[in-house]
Amino acid sequence: MPKPLVATPEKELPAFRRRLLAWFRREKRDLEWRRTRDPYRIWVSEIMLQQTRVAAVAPYYTQFLARFPTVERLARAREDAVLRAWAGLGYYSRARNLRRAAQEIVTQHGGKFPREMQEALALPGIGRYTASAVLSIAYGEPWAVLDGNVARVLSRLGAVRGPLRQPRIWRRLEESASGLLARNVAGDWNQAMMELGATVCTPRTPRCSACPVARWCRARAMGIADQLPCARRAAKPVRLTLAAAVLLDPRGRTLVVRQSGIARKGVARKTRKEGPKEATALFSRLWQFPAVDISAQAGAEIPGSAAERLSRHLASELGLQAVALQPAGMARHAVTFHDIRLMPFLARVERLPRIPGSRTPRLTEFGALPISGATRKIAAAALACL
Ligand code: SF4
Repeated sequence: MPKPLVATPEKELPAFRRRLLAWFRREKRDLEWRRTRDPYRIWVSEIMLQQTRVAAVAPYYTQFLARFPTVERLARAREDAVLRAWAGLGYYSRARNLRRAAQEIVTQHGGKFPREMQEALALPGIGRYTASAVLSIAYGEPWAVLDGNVARVLSRLGAVRGPLRQPRIWRRLEESASGLLARNVAGDWNQAMMELGATVCTPRTPRCSACPVARWCRARAMGIADQLPCARRAAKPVRLTLAAAVLLDPRGRTLVVRQSGIARKGVARKTRKEGPKEATALFSRLWQFPAVDISAQAGAEIPGSAAERLSRHLASELGLQAVALQPAGMARHAVTFHDIRLMPFLARVERLPRIPGSRTPRLTEFGALPISGATRKIAAAALACL
C-alpha cells in the first residue's frame, strides 16, 4: 500500500487534532445547518453547497426547509414545486435527485437517511463526499470527507505537488484524510477541515499566521504555501449566443415550453468535453421561452441576423409564420464553463400557438414557475420594453 501523502508523525497526531478542533469550536461560522444533527437537514445543506457559495445557499436553505420541513413532505411534493423552491440556485438535477432520493428514503428506509455507506451511495445524487459528510455529521460515523477545500489543505500540509485530481494522487489524499480523522468526533473533524480550507487555507493567499496547524505544515516551512496546489489549467469558457422569443398575446400572456431544443441541438454539442450534465444543468426541463442557439452563425451579435434565425426557428418548431420580432436588448448570463449572451426578442401575436405540454402564464406573473436565472433575465428584458 502506498504511503499517505500527509505524514504527520503518529505521536504528534493527538496535538494536531486537539489544535484544529479547539480552533473550529472557537472560530466556526454560525451557519444554520450547523445547529442541527437532523440527517435530512444536513443532507439538504450538503447538496445545496455543491458548486455554490455559503452566502448564496443560506437564504435558499431556510426557505426550502420551510416549504419541505421533512423528508416525507419532500417525497410527496410535485417536481415543479421542488424546482420552484430551487429556482436561482442552478444545477437543477440536484433538486430532482433530492426529491427522488427522498422518495427512496421513505419507501425503502422508513423515512430515515440510511446509516450505512453503501446504502447512502445507492441513493440518487449522493456520491462519496456527500455520503461521508452526512454520515459523519448526523450519525458520527467515522468517514473522512475529501472535497476541494480539504484536498487543498492536505496538499499544503504534505507539500504535495502535481494535479490533485489525478486518480493516483486523489486516492492517496483520501488515505491521508482517513489517517488524520478524529474518529470519535468525525462530524466536527470533517467540518473543521472544511472550515480551515474555506476561511484560512484559502486558494490564493493562505493566512498561515492565523492557522492552528501551521507548525505541522510542510508547504509553509518550505515557503511554497501560496504555490500549492499546482494550478489546474483553467477550462476555457464555452461561449454561447441564444436568441429567445417572448411571445405576447393581447391578454399579456406568453408561451413557455419545457424543451426549447437548445440543450439538444446547441449546448450539448458544445459542452461534450464537460459532459452532458452541463447542458442538463443549464436548461433541462425548466420552463423557458422558445429559443435557438445562434453561436455558430456569422454575425450572431447583429439583431437583424439573430431575428432572422429565430424567425425560421419559430416557423419550423411552432408553426408561427412571419412574426415581427422586436429586439429587447441584450443580457449576459454566466454559469460554470458557460458565458452566455442572451438576445431576447418581443413578438406580439394575435394568438399563442398550442403546443402540447406548454404553458401560457401572464408575463407579469412569470415568477410563479420554476425557471432558470437566464430565463428570468430574458423576461425582465422583455418587460422593460413594454
Ligand atoms: Fe494552509 Fe498555511 Fe495552514 Fe499550511 S500553514 S495549512 S498553508 S494556512
